[in-house]
Amino acid sequence: MTAPVFAMVNLGCRVNRVECDRIAEELEAAGYVLGPSSEADAVVVNTCAVTGEAEAKTRKALRRAAQLPQQPLVVATGCVANLFSESLAALAPNIRVIRSKRDVASEIISTLGGRTAGAPSRLSMPTATGRTRPGIKVQDGCDLRCTYCIVWKARGRSSSVPAAQVVEEVEAAIARNAREVVLTGINLGCYDDSGMRLPELLEMLLEKTSVGRLRISSIEPQDVDERLVSLMASSEGRIAPYLHMCLQSGSEQVLRRMGRVYSAEDFAERAEMAYRSVPNLAIETDLIVGFPGETDEEFEESRAFCERMRFSHIHTFRYSKRPGTKAAQMDGQVPPQVSAARGEAIRSLGDELRAARAESLVGSEDLVVTQETGSGISGGLFSCSLDQPVEPDELVRVRISAVGENATLRAVVLR
Ligand code: SF4
Repeated sequence: MTAPVFAMVNLGCRVNRVECDRIAEELEAAGYVLGPSSEADAVVVNTCAVTGEAEAKTRKALRRAAQLPQQPLVVATGCVANLFSESLAALAPNIRVIRSKRDVASEIISTLGGRTAGAPSRLSMPTATGRTRPGIKVQDGCDLRCTYCIVWKARGRSSSVPAAQVVEEVEAAIARNAREVVLTGINLGCYDDSGMRLPELLEMLLEKTSVGRLRISSIEPQDVDERLVSLMASSEGRIAPYLHMCLQSGSEQVLRRMGRVYSAEDFAERAEMAYRSVPNLAIETDLIVGFPGETDEEFEESRAFCERMRFSHIHTFRYSKRPGTKAAQMDGQVPPQVSAARGEAIRSLGDELRAARAESLVGSEDLVVTQETGSGISGGLFSCSLDQPVEPDELVRVRISAVGENATLRAVVLR
């Protein structure tokens, strides 16, 4: 009997990618084989509700999978599945909505057959979503209420994976040859295991595991404090010199309308403290342009603030109306062509800032995790080509020697 084939369609954030890996592990442990959608008996669509556009993409992906000639079982899970289960199920008869991701693999197996799904002990590298630096989900949900966001409604209040389990998962990843582990969550600063917060969790992982490098996937600005920053500074590169601090806007007024809990000046103080403490730190951010009521002056304030913060990368999002949020009801929705022009301006600033940040690293030492022979990812998440054909999945100390096209670093291996 040939093994059943499954396909994964992942929409959305890093947490979704980690969840897809977990579902794939469970199906593989039950004898399923990952393959293309065109050959799949089951297609899992991990949905995203972060913007109206993301939701539209979700519905399109589901329709496309449901219409495949072999009529696979199409499983919708994730944020849109939680918020709008009935309307997704109504898209096609072969779509099944499964709200809890923990049940996805077992539901597929009970429908299509296979060995009983269990927690798998091994995961091949790269993972199902193609990453050699595995992510580990340590937190889910969010206790905040940003006015443009629906994720907190879809995922509920914050919950944390017990620290002992995180230690086990990191050790399992190391046993599978992972040199870097990325800690992910919807709002990592909410991590709380009976009073143990994110900095203590990181400290525990540094002490109890031999992980080569830990990376914090993203963090809210208010959670970047002295404790976290001094731990990063004293970790000798075992915590990557990298912060993805979600700014969203550099305008004080827009931040207030977004319901963010920090001011631009708070952000600047925390970012500057981190720059002073952690050598060669790279700070990335997310920025929304065209938020309701964003005037030309407010946009300019935001753009100038990004310049001042010397971001190594700006993930730019054009605001799109997300029904069910407070922001969708606000006056002053910005015309799409204005948002598009603002997005372009930020993207071009982002490219300049990234190139400048890369140049500033020339002469410094760093750790690189190789992903292919002779190239890999630096601590600050820059692509890096090495002067030697080092095998994939190694952690090597390097000196940055030059910057090539698209801010790719060139480096001399020091070991
Ligand atoms: S911090 Fe704000 S944007 Fe992020 S998940 Fe929570 S409510 Fe949404």
